[in-house]
Amino acid sequence: MPESPEQISNEIRDLLQQAVLRDYPNPDRKGCMGSEVVREVAQRQSPVEDAAWEHIKRCSPCYREFLDFRAVLATARKKRVRRNRIVLALTVSAVVGFWVWTRSTHGAQKPPVLAQRPPAAVVNPVVAKVNIQLLSAVRDGDDAAGQNSKPVATINRQIVQMELSLPVGSDEGTYEVRILDGQLRPIMSRGASTTFADHVTSLSVTFDLSSLTPGAYVLGVKGPKSDWRSYPIAVR
Ligand SMILES: [Zn+2]
Repeated sequence: MPESPEQISNEIRDLLQQAVLRDYPNPDRKGCMGSEVVREVAQRQSPVEDAAWEHIKRCSPCYREFLDFRAVLATARKKRVRRNRIVLALTVSAVVGFWVWTRSTHGAQKPPVLAQRPPAAVVNPVVAKVNIQLLSAVRDGDDAAGQNSKPVATINRQIVQMELSLPVGSDEGTYEVRILDGQLRPIMSRGASTTFADHVTSLSVTFDLSSLTPGAYVLGVKGPKSDWRSYPIAVR
């Protein structure tokens, strides 16, 4: 059977190790730096070409010590990995055991950690009053719908109930209100009927603005008998 590249490199490594162990006997231990230095070199993650390693790889007794330290370290590492695996397995089985136990004692009345946040429709929207009573709107088709002028309202990115006070003399009935982006592309639209109180005609529409990026938008309002009128708004 042909040998794998790993087997070949292991064989080469073994041959080189045997050569080092054999070829530099150094019976007088000339230049040896002691076991502490050899241990320090053996603990390195990757080889460093310093004086200690230069000596060890040319001194058979030091190299013998070096290989022994490496073997001890490798065994310790394997033990640590095995212990970590056991700890992990015990933790997993404890968690599963606890879950099974709580399920069996408390029944299955509650699914675990789900639906912390109520659905969007349940959240009470924040009221944003937008007064366009006295503002001269820009008719659709006019220059950029006035989006460069001062915004009529600055609204936070959240679910808002927009209370729109319409200009005096506005028609009553069903209106369409929409929000357009900077390029005047409609993003969202709502229909609403007017209410009339204290000589003010108003509309109430709810928009979820939480997904919008902050910036300049345009509020479009269309009455039952009128064209679209646009008002710049800011979303932050
Ligand atoms: Zn030595």
